[in-house]
Amino acid sequence: MKICASIAPPSQIPENVSGNAKNKVTIKNLSNPRRKFTENEKLVLYSEVGGVCPLCSNDLMYEKSKTKNKNFEIAHIYPLNPKPEELIVLKDVKRLNSDINHLDNLLCLCNGCHTKFDNPRTKEEYEELFTLKSGLIKLAKEKKLWSNSTLENEISELINCLVTTDFVFTNGDILSYNPKTITEKTNATITVLTKRKIERNVQDYFSFINFKFSEIDKIKPTTTETISTQIKLHYLKLKKEIPDYNQKEVFDAMVNWFQITSQNSSKEACEIIVSYFIQNCEVFE
Ligand SMILES: [Zn+2]
Repeated sequence: MKICASIAPPSQIPENVSGNAKNKVTIKNLSNPRRKFTENEKLVLYSEVGGVCPLCSNDLMYEKSKTKNKNFEIAHIYPLNPKPEELIVLKDVKRLNSDINHLDNLLCLCNGCHTKFDNPRTKEEYEELFTLKSGLIKLAKEKKLWSNSTLENEISELINCLVTTDFVFTNGDILSYNPKTITEKTNATITVLTKRKIERNVQDYFSFINFKFSEIDKIKPTTTETISTQIKLHYLKLKKEIPDYNQKEVFDAMVNWFQITSQNSSKEACEIIVSYFIQNCEVFE
């Protein structure tokens, strides 16, 4: 692991350092101490980037003599001990966490990218890593919601029907929904391509899904209502936990959740069902 050796002014010593530790550090060299990360913390950071350097896509492990070896270091996004010139360059930037040693301010990088990132540190590179890590933090929150949100098993049955049925579309499908709904409920953050995909999904599959839900309800009454409520609840949780997700990110997050909950089924089928629930007003106001 790389240890930053530059000296910071006493004001840079984090507030959360205990009294004795603070004295010890001050006597030593006035710099912020690099916390020793636990193996579990390293595992969290390694998993967060999928074992691949997020800047150059290099594998973060290499094999030698039949053993796996680390090809990564844990980088501080905001420097642990900023040099005077870095304090100037980064004076107005947003921080991911007030505690410089917090996992929010750390990222696994390959050795080469870490060295390049630190020398010299530029505002543009800092902002690139800030954005990258912000996305990873939001994704982690999204994943946390998966274990607390349930979906009725019948949704898998519906996905299977979408995947295996050879559809013949008619004008009746096109006329059976109100295309104004999608336009009224979406804004510029959905992106043109995603909005078009949602419109096409609703146009082609809305009647079929309505029909399938009515069939399921005949055998297991209130299934549709239960699923609709579960979807609305998950949407509201996403909005609460990750309020700065835009509509495109919410759509993708709902699709990811569907895919995971239905045992990694077809992404296209999950997009069709999320589109249905946008039209049906469970997703987006
Ligand atoms: Zn790299």
